[in-house]
Amino acid sequence: MKSPIVITIDGPSASGKGTVSRVLAQRLGYVYVDTGAMYRTLAWHCLNKGVDVQDEKKVASACRHWKARLECAEGQVFLSVAGYRPEKEIRESAASGAVPFVARVPAVRKWMKKTQQDCVQFGNLVMEGRDIGTNIFPDTDFKFFLDASPEVRAKRRHAQGVAEDVHQRDKIDSQRAAAPLMRPLGSLVIDNSHQTPEETVAAILQKIDEIRAARRPS
Ligand code: C5P
Repeated sequence: MKSPIVITIDGPSASGKGTVSRVLAQRLGYVYVDTGAMYRTLAWHCLNKGVDVQDEKKVASACRHWKARLECAEGQVFLSVAGYRPEKEIRESAASGAVPFVARVPAVRKWMKKTQQDCVQFGNLVMEGRDIGTNIFPDTDFKFFLDASPEVRAKRRHAQGVAEDVHQRDKIDSQRAAAPLMRPLGSLVIDNSHQTPEETVAAILQKIDEIRAARRPS
């Protein structure tokens, strides 16, 4: 059996990963995986259970014991916790503030790595995050890194009604010891400050075609 194809889309917050990845997955008929949502789900779970997210040992223990299940519906993978899928809650400011602390814990990253790699059970994937091309699927041929200027990213957040200080989150994500946010080796870097999501999707599709053409025996 052929192994599933994985397209990785990494980048900082408000770099357009979400919109672009979702459209790309639809266009290709691949399954969409938002790994940020998985970390947010764990952050939400910790807050619910009264776990101090700054306490690495307690977060690691919560991650070892939570009843999270990988599910796929309508072309998207998500985690349900004890049968419940949190959606709105994981976008609220409490979860956004807690998530980078949860995400820097090595035991959490180990759990997420295995779980995210297990997503291939659902088929070909477009997976977005911070360490997908560097750490989760480093051997895939299709790696992309999206970026935009800090001003444009701040404007996008503002337009989405998000008042959160994303600089602080990006700083923690880039400086942590375990799988920090980095440009994956061999990735195509796209600065989409002056692109529409449609233009970014087109650039990615073109690159995928080029990679495929280069691999075809002549
Ligand atoms: O993509 P999103 O902004 O929803 O991600 C929320 C947080 O999850 C990030 O700020 C980061 O702390 C964490 N994350 C991560 N590795 C990933 C995806 C997200 O550390 N692959």
